[in-house]
Amino acid sequence: MPDKNLIKKFKEIMGDNVWTDEKDIMCYSYDAAPGEQCPPDFVVRPETYDEVSSVIKLCNAENIPIITRGAGTNLSGGTVPMTRGGCVLLTTGLNKILEINTEDMYAVVQSGVVTADLAAAVAEHGLLYPPDPGSMKSSTIGGNVAENAGGLRALKYGVTNDYLMGTKFFDTEGNLIISGGKTVKLVTGFNLNGLMVSYEGLLGIMVEHIMKIVPPPQASKPMMVIFDDIMNACRAVSQIIANKVTPATLELMDSFTIKTVEEAAKIGLPVNADGLLLIEVDGHPAAVEDEFQIVKKICSELGGEVHVANNAEERDKIWEARRKALSSLARLRPTLILEDATVPRSKIPEMMQAIKDITEKYNLTIGTFGHAGDGNLHPTILTDKRDTEEMARVHQAVDDIFDTALNLGGTISGEHGIGSAKAKYLEREVGKGTIEYMRRLKAGVDPKNLLNPHKMGL
Ligand SMILES: Cc1cc2nc3c(=O)[nH]c(=O)nc-3n(C[C@H](O)[C@H](O)[C@H](O)COP(=O)(O)OP(=O)(O)OC[C@H]3O[C@@H](n4cnc5c(N)ncnc54)[C@H](O)[C@@H]3O)c2cc1C
Repeated sequence: MPDKNLIKKFKEIMGDNVWTDEKDIMCYSYDAAPGEQCPPDFVVRPETYDEVSSVIKLCNAENIPIITRGAGTNLSGGTVPMTRGGCVLLTTGLNKILEINTEDMYAVVQSGVVTADLAAAVAEHGLLYPPDPGSMKSSTIGGNVAENAGGLRALKYGVTNDYLMGTKFFDTEGNLIISGGKTVKLVTGFNLNGLMVSYEGLLGIMVEHIMKIVPPPQASKPMMVIFDDIMNACRAVSQIIANKVTPATLELMDSFTIKTVEEAAKIGLPVNADGLLLIEVDGHPAAVEDEFQIVKKICSELGGEVHVANNAEERDKIWEARRKALSSLARLRPTLILEDATVPRSKIPEMMQAIKDITEKYNLTIGTFGHAGDGNLHPTILTDKRDTEEMARVHQAVDDIFDTALNLGGTISGEHGIGSAKAKYLEREVGKGTIEYMRRLKAGVDPKNLLNPHKMGL
């Protein structure tokens, strides 16, 4: 239990929006990544920028680490303290959409705005906010920026970074920093927006963003392609890209995932298929038709059965199947380890074969799905962390998955970030010198290492 005097100081700033009781803070020792870390001493939920600044100043004066938390849906253990104590700062009280500008095509939002709420608000004006992580009904824009979240549409429309025009954030002294703006072009000073993207809350606490919005496509054609050999589905992915077609979405599901989703959601998926591609081409109607014909030809030649969604209900079914993948797999075993090793798109067949081999070698249950068009597969290991013998095999499998991705010219994380879960693997990809550079950068702006300390091994 923290010192009474300190609790009093927090209450003077936050009123009732501060929690210190064990029962209230325990859930902040978890996020969507497997495993538990440590509970914080304080949880605060500011609703104004003044409150954010005052909490930071107090934490700085008292040497209290601050871990910023949006919806806690990150899959890398980024929002839980790695040692007991500290202050979790929830951004969910900063949840206002401040402006939607349809003339200049941007939205100004606070960091705690839920991604799907921004997308829906923009859609009411006939516009599109494209980044659509599978977690968008819960995740926040601040969390999306801090993880540079992708989504089902990333292949054609890009990731969160591609939509970030401006950011307001607080530094470790409680000063407000402003970066970027509302113009299409802007080169005044350092691009501090870039420092906020995928930095996982280590260099500042964001409160506001200017996000680009775009006109929606005029037409689209969603389809499900059924393969009796998943390797042909993977080959189709590489060939579609190589044939200069960029679908809005190009997702893959393996047979284990198909069966599991069907069992959980009863959508009517083909449970005997070895692999599924869920594809949507969009744009000008004529271009959509051209691209559809190319996709259809490639898939058919590889033995794929193409089923086009003829109405909104059939389209929803396709995307429901994909969005249910993770939650359906999660029902099967107590611990789920979701990886997001990513490779150049041409290497998808090799990566898929390696995942199959690794599954067999270590005798594990692994369901694989993911953003295949981005080269981003999610081999999902179903296990039980209490079973130490099985966990040893899981760790070896993860090691092999990362080594394979790196040997194929890929990365250990396409979108889920490093946090605490992947910190020990980071050096393997970027080398010692890069980690030292990041450490020096962090020490420069956060000399006491108070902002999300020890994440990424920093
Ligand atoms: C079912 C499911 C599906 C998912 N699908 C996808 C997907 O398709 N694509 C994808 O990229 N990810 C996906 N994710 C992962 C996750 O949803 C994203 O990483 C998302 O961006 C996290 O948002 P959040 O609000 O939950 O952030 P949190 O988990 O709360 O925080 C994530 C990180 O950002 C930092 N942070 C959060 N807000 C701020 C702020 N205001 N200022 C400074 N730092 C901050 C935190 O300290 C932490 O390091 C999925 C997760 C789940 C559970």
